[in-house]
Formats: sequence, C-alpha cells, structure tokens
Amino acid sequence: MATGKINVSVENIFPLIKKFLYSDHEIFLRELISNATDATLKLKHLTDIGETDVKYGNPVIEVKIDKEGKKLHVIDQGIGMTKEEVEKYINEVAFSGAEEFLEKYKDSAKDSGIIGHFGLGFYSAFMVANKVEIITKSYQDDQAAHWVCEGTTDFTIEDADKKERGTEIILHINEEDEEFLEENRIQELLVKYNKFMPIPIKFGTKEETLPLPEDAPEDAEAETKTVDNIINNPEPAWTKQPTDLEDKDYKSFYRELYPMQFEEPLFHIHLNVDYPFNLTGILYFPKMTQDMNIQKDKIQLYQNQVFVTDNVEGIVPEFLTMLRGVIDSPDIPLNVSRSYLQADGAVKKISSYITRKVADKLKSLFNNNREDFEQKWNDIKIVIEYGMLSEDKFYEKAQKFALYPTVDNEYYTFDELQEKLKDNQTDKDGNLVVLYASNQDEQHSYIDAAKAKGYKVLLLDSPIISHLLQKMEGEKEKISFVRVDSDQVDNLIKKDEEKISKLSEEEKEKLKGDFEKVIPKEKYTVQMEAMDSDAAPLLITQPEFMRRMKEMQQTGGGG
Ligand code: ADP
Ligand code: MG
Repeated sequence: MATGKINVSVENIFPLIKKFLYSDHEIFLRELISNATDATLKLKHLTDIGETDVKYGNPVIEVKIDKEGKKLHVIDQGIGMTKEEVEKYINEVAFSGAEEFLEKYKDSAKDSGIIGHFGLGFYSAFMVANKVEIITKSYQDDQAAHWVCEGTTDFTIEDADKKERGTEIILHINEEDEEFLEENRIQELLVKYNKFMPIPIKFGTKEETLPLPEDAPEDAEAETKTVDNIINNPEPAWTKQPTDLEDKDYKSFYRELYPMQFEEPLFHIHLNVDYPFNLTGILYFPKMTQDMNIQKDKIQLYQNQVFVTDNVEGIVPEFLTMLRGVIDSPDIPLNVSRSYLQADGAVKKISSYITRKVADKLKSLFNNNREDFEQKWNDIKIVIEYGMLSEDKFYEKAQKFALYPTVDNEYYTFDELQEKLKDNQTDKDGNLVVLYASNQDEQHSYIDAAKAKGYKVLLLDSPIISHLLQKMEGEKEKISFVRVDSDQVDNLIKKDEEKISKLSEEEKEKLKGDFEKVIPKEKYTVQMEAMDSDAAPLLITQPEFMRRMKEMQQTGGGG
C-alpha cells in the first residue's frame, strides 16, 4: 500500500478563487473598502493605545474611476505595508492580517471594529481585473513598495516613490466587467455595501449650495461650492447608545435606511448585547399593509457596519421578517448554507434573543401607554398573532399584551376578557364561550342578535386567526371560540329563555319549515329568535366545524 499527500498548490486554487469564491462579482469593491477601512482602523487603534506617535488626523478612503485608463483606484491613509508585509500578507493566500492583528492586540482591539477574517477578500479583485497593482507606504517605513500581479502566481515587487502613508490599490478592469468603470454603477455599489462603514468614503465631488446670509436681497443667487462627495454615514444610529438617541433620531435613521419609505414607523426596538454574542441593531415596526409579502424594504444584515445581505431568513424568526431595520453582528457565520444556519447554536441564541427583546418592548409599550398601544393594535396584530402561532416562547409572553377587540372598539387582554365573560357566556359544561365576528358588515345581523342577548362579540379579522384560536383552545382549558354565525352559539346558556317571541309556536314552526325547504339542511341550521329586539326573527347558522375546515384549507395547513 502506498500513501501520499495531496498537493494543494496556489496554482490550482487561484482559478477556483476567481471563479467560485464569491458568487457575486460586485462584492470585490466591498472587500477592498473593508481592507482600506481595516488599515485605517488599525492605525487608529495603534495611535489610541500609544504604540505610535504618527498623526492619525481625519483619514478618508477615496474611490476613483479612470475611464480612459480603464482603471479603478481605492486609496486609503491607513497603516500601509512594508515590502516584507506585502510578501507576507498579500502573497500568502488565505493568511489574514486582520486576524493576526486581532490576535496580537487581543485585549485592547476586540471592539476596534476590524472586519477582515479569512485572508481571501483581497483576491476577489481578480474577479473583475486582469491586473492588480498595490502601491503602499507603511507608517513605519520611508520606502514605499509597488506590487504588480496579472492574476497568475507570478508577481513583481519593487520600490516606489509614494510620499503619503497608506495604500493605493489599482484594478485594471476586464473588458467584460467594464460596468465597474461606470460612475452610476460604482455609486450604487458604494451605497449598497458601504453606506454605514466607519471611515468616510469619498467618491468624486459635488456642488453644495451655501445658505444665503440673512440680509441678502431677494434676487440674490445662492452661492455653490465644490465639496467632497462622501457617500457614507460613519456613525449610524445603531452604533450609538440608546440613551444618546431621541425618538426623532430613530425616525431620521429610518429614512436614511429606506429613503423611498414615506410612512413613519410605529415604534423601534434598539438591540444591544455583547454577551454571549455580539449584536447591535434597530428594528422598526412598520405600519402593516395588506400586501406586506411583496415588501422590498427588508431587515438588513451587517457585520461591523459592512452590508452583507437583506435575506435574514434563518437568523430572525420568520414572524419578525415583516419588520424593518438593521442587525449588525460579527458572530453570524455567513459563508454557510441557510439550513446549516438554522441548526447553528449561536444563531439560535440570536434568534431567541431577538424574539425576547421584541416581546419585552411590546410589553412595555402596552404597560406604559395602553391607549396608544390599542390604537396601534390593528397595524401590529398580524406580526403578533403570527408570532403567537409560530413561537411558543413568544406565545407565552404575548398573553400579557395581546388584545382582543370587541365589535364596539373595547380592547381586552385575555385575562380581562375571561373576567368579563365568566358569568354570562358559558355553556352547560362550564366552558367559556367566546363569540367573535370576522367581518362586521357581513355578520352584522348575527352580531346584533348576540348583543341583544347581552353577549360580548369580538372582532377578529386577521387571515390567520382561525389557526390561532385553535391553538388557544388547545392550550387553555375550558374555552371555545365560536363565530357569531355558527350553530354553536346555541350552546350558550340562555338567560333570556323566557323572552316571548311575537310569533306563535305554530307560526314559528311554519317559518322555520319554509326556510328549510330552500336552504340545504346539511350546510346550515335555521334557528328562531326572540322578537323583542331589533334583531332578526330567525337566524341561519353554519356548523362551526365545517366553516373552520374550509378556512383552514384556504389559509393552508394547520396551526
Ligand atoms: P483579510 O482582510 O481577511 O485579513 P484580505 O485578503 O482581504 O484578508 O487581505 C489580506 C491582508 O492584506 C490583510 O489582512 C492586510 O494585512 C493586508 N492588506 C490588504 N489591503 C490592505 C490595505 N489597504 N492596507 C494595508 N494592508 C492591507
Ligand atoms: Mg479583507
């Protein structure tokens, strides 16, 4: 038997990286700006802890298009690299200088916001460029270096005469990737991925109108001046402490996140945890509309202020994907499949933390201003009811604040409802019978009849309500939910049995018989009613079980 070693050489891996490392070619820019950001944050950290006395100043990262030269430049004023460092960090594929830095400054740098991780990001440049140059000058070295590579394993490195500290990456863009020489395309990418990165990013210049002085004549022309076009907000709201933010700051951040969204959010939830995992973010409850499932403004996922995706499936419990906002966590493994994510312990913890925070916030909104909560109920109930149906933990918590409105706009919690009904709305076996309507217009005669008998009627009109009611019947003892137009209303103990109908027994029997001739008996029940109210003299009801079966089929699956 012979044994051997599989030879993995860079020559073999290189083309694979180019082809398969990232499915999306456009992320090369995110990777290069992440590296430029890291280089700047490293310098900041070293000056902060006094390891160097170079001046940090107000560094920016600049992105420049050279259309004629077919080149794209990314320039930073970070720590730069010596020739030796280029050899070490760049030429060794899958060696991460970011990880090395974090390891070296373990104690002090854990909150430095450094992004890099796998030591592969830089090579994504070769997805769109056939030739890449690095011109770099270390903060510790007077001699700059110039590295050139044409996408093979060969490279050259020589001295350069760059004067300023920092690194310039030059991509010679492939012919088939010339979209990345278009200003609009680059602007779009910068806004998509780098809108909230921590170091200012400059892309060209723009004209800014100066405010007119107070005493300016009416026909005075406003002056403009040319300023840097900074595409990002380096300090987005979620990176700040909740105590430093006011309601208006949360609202204006919402508009920053969703510039095309004109409706104000109902309320926000600021997430902030650093143990046992790191996670910050702000979630917003939007006003729910009927067509929420075609919603395109979704929760955005970031890692250290770098946009990753707006597909948070598996990370946020499904019922909360209807919310908006951002989540930023370096602890979410992203280079794995979604099904793996759902099984990952850390991700499960994150998901249940978010569920808990949302429940706590709803509880405190309910406690602090019940009136306001009642007013918002119709806009938030879909999320809450869906959450109660799908997450048992949330179901438990929501018992305290979930509301059950009546057709007359009274809002009860479940406990309050129970208290209200216990003397007047039970059946022979002592079960509480909760009457509800699902459509006030269609069922108004049934509602009136029930009210005339002194019963409370809830108005529960969400599409998933029948699933939720079934779950509640299963969880709670001695309770049944009965729709006002169902035959089970009859099971209620009647207090007004003695009320006399204006019709004689004979007349009633005849009327009943006449109706039964024209409507199918197996589908409906005809019931005579007392006549001393404004309600109808007779009710046609539907067996509860048949109606539920039909509803379940319509909304798909059981609860
Ligand atoms: P990672 O960022 O995961 O560490 P990359 O492949 O993106 O891996 O980059 C490799 C390394 O090259 C970085 O860790 C860093 O040490 C170095 N590097 C890349 N770009 C720059 C830059 N603009 N300035 C200084 N160093 C850089
Ligand atoms: Mg990187």
